[in-house]
Amino acid sequence: MENIIDVQNISYSYSVDETRRVQALHNISLQVPRGQFLAILGHNGSGKSTLSKHFNAILLPESGEVRAMGIDTRDEAHLYDIRRHIGMVFQNPDNQIVATIVEEDVAFALENMGVPTAEIRRRVDEALKAVGMYDFRKRPPHHLSGGQKQRVAIAGVLAMQPDCIVLDEPTAMLDPRGRREVLATLQNLHAQGVTVVLITHFMDEAVQTDRVVVMERGDIILDGAPREVFSNISLLQSVGLDVPQTAELSHELEKCGIKLPRGLLTVNELADALAGLLEGSHCPSSKSNM
Ligand code: ADP
Ligand code: MG
Repeated sequence: MENIIDVQNISYSYSVDETRRVQALHNISLQVPRGQFLAILGHNGSGKSTLSKHFNAILLPESGEVRAMGIDTRDEAHLYDIRRHIGMVFQNPDNQIVATIVEEDVAFALENMGVPTAEIRRRVDEALKAVGMYDFRKRPPHHLSGGQKQRVAIAGVLAMQPDCIVLDEPTAMLDPRGRREVLATLQNLHAQGVTVVLITHFMDEAVQTDRVVVMERGDIILDGAPREVFSNISLLQSVGLDVPQTAELSHELEKCGIKLPRGLLTVNELADALAGLLEGSHCPSSKSNM
């Protein structure tokens, strides 16, 4: 399977002052296959942003190697290609919006790239439709809600036709409705084949992805399907992370001696398992309707 991002044994440290450095990444390896929806979890300071900035050469590794679309991120001649293929969205939508009209904002990078006008029109319309913001194309961005602004920022990246979109806590500043809008947008892009890397500290968002990587102090401590990762309740809690409520309740019930299948994630799965126990029959195999 083709890896969009291939991180091999990278380490990175920041200099704090003339004599001291803080080690932010310790010998990390990570492959992101094309089409995957990957969540990176971890509490503040665990190295998530530092790692993600290596994906498109915002940072270069001190040791080890990062390949984006097969290109070594140290290769300056291909910097532009790397940045076009691996798009980034950050936490604060206000810092990412530059124009005074939504569609102009989405067109901004394309104009700088010298894309022909008709092609810009087509790509901007397509990107705005993909994030559900086409009807707002003539509006000033500062009148939009946080979730809407963040979707415009995502459209700006999509207009570049990236292979992968990396979002560093894009919902951290949003209200619950804005978070739902952004998550639904990402699900939709993933369904259309876009590779998505979502850095988040919301468990309910991570649960909706294909794969969850958990970072702690510059290391990857868990990596797997959400069901596997969230069954490590004690480990997650020991590094200060919440766990999905269903997983936590299952864990508490198990401590009371109630035998449940591993990896229950949705309310319906837990309800089915408990109903099965109450009827005195075996627990039904988990039917996912996340
Ligand atoms: P996260 O995104 O998971 O919160 P970061 O990648 O931002 O983590 O930070 C990892 C470590 O690197 C932390 O110890 C943090 O304090 C340190 N760090 C991050 N950015 C800088 C910086 N610009 N200068 C010095 N230290 C930094
Ligand atoms: Mg961060």
